[in-house]
Amino acid sequence: MTDIIVQKYGGSSLKSPERIKAVAQRIIDTKKRAKSVVAVVSAMGKSTNELIGLASQVSEQPIAREYDALISNGENISASLLSMAINDRGVKAISLTGAQAGIRTESLHKKAKILDVRTQRIQDELDKDQIVIITGFQGINQYDDITTIGRGGSDTSAVVLAAALRCQECEIYTDVDGVYTTDPRLEPAARKLTEVTYDEMLEMASLGAKVLHPRSVECAKENEITIHVRSSFNEHEGTRVRKESVMEVNQPVTGVTLNEQESIISIVGVPDQPGIAGRFFSYLAQQGVNVDMIIQSVENKTEPVNNISFSVLEDDLSLATKLTEEMAQTLKAKSVSTDSSIAKVSIVGVGMMSRPGVAAQMFQTLGESNINIKRITTSEIKVSCAIDRDKASQAVQLLHDAFGLAVVTQ
Ligand code: ASP
Ligand code: MG
Repeated sequence: MTDIIVQKYGGSSLKSPERIKAVAQRIIDTKKRAKSVVAVVSAMGKSTNELIGLASQVSEQPIAREYDALISNGENISASLLSMAINDRGVKAISLTGAQAGIRTESLHKKAKILDVRTQRIQDELDKDQIVIITGFQGINQYDDITTIGRGGSDTSAVVLAAALRCQECEIYTDVDGVYTTDPRLEPAARKLTEVTYDEMLEMASLGAKVLHPRSVECAKENEITIHVRSSFNEHEGTRVRKESVMEVNQPVTGVTLNEQESIISIVGVPDQPGIAGRFFSYLAQQGVNVDMIIQSVENKTEPVNNISFSVLEDDLSLATKLTEEMAQTLKAKSVSTDSSIAKVSIVGVGMMSRPGVAAQMFQTLGESNINIKRITTSEIKVSCAIDRDKASQAVQLLHDAFGLAVVTQ
């Protein structure tokens, strides 16, 4: 029998009293195959959003300490209800808040990092044969104030607890069956992956596959914990996020992702001198603008000027354009232009490291269907292309097909 199993249940799995009762039963069943069970919970359904909405009705800019004190309550509610439901079935369970469970964080509010977990209380309860239900998303700082760790952070709470309790696997229950080769809403032939590596999952998470909180994957990677993403609505095996992918390594590409919120800004005719790019991008960074896909090109040799273009998320477009225009004046650049109907389609896979021609195949596939590539970026395990947004779903389908993702290859 396994020693301790750590499970996490997301908001969709706990959205109603019926769902809470179903999860209670699932946890009781888990207890039959493990000596101890720790369950980490998110807030019911979208209740965190409701709390944020309430805050905005009483204050334009809620002060951070009270904001955390408020929005951490969603998890308190689901944890205590779940514990009641388990006890009701004649099985011992106890709910613990982040503070009670010894989850210590940085002092910063709203996005504190978890520093360590003092597991004594959890251990004591497990020794009494209690099922321990722990609130995700929250902890306590050095001033004994409640902190939260960033939206979607319960995944990270669960992985951190699994590490602190020396578990090798952490089960994350959600409303989808696992991680797919692409978004099944864009490509009905999308296939559930049995396994995906940490690095692939990190690339996929940052590129738009929102199954897991990226920090949970980083933390799992650091501690070599396997994350098993699975559905709380059925008994199917889900996707294991782990170090090595043994099954799918034959495939050059594991998944296709899409981010439809991209825009491109170009600054034309910047003097070709050392330090310009540093000055320009530091200016954007200081104002919190995140840039991606940077391209710089020398226009001609007689007149030493560059064109620099980069992509930003649509939310940042107006601020980034304003800052770029300011900088264009300071740097005496010629002009600034923007293109706001861009999508970024990417292929991700550890298999591409050992195989030449994967990027070429992607470009060819898009080219054959007359999809123009506006920008390209790559990493060791990813190739991304910026294309027109109205071609985005077609591109996803073409690439999914071209890399044979719908069929299982052995
Ligand atoms: N309830 C929090 C949120 O909605 C944390 C989570 O669900 O993981 O962001
Ligand atoms: Mg989540």
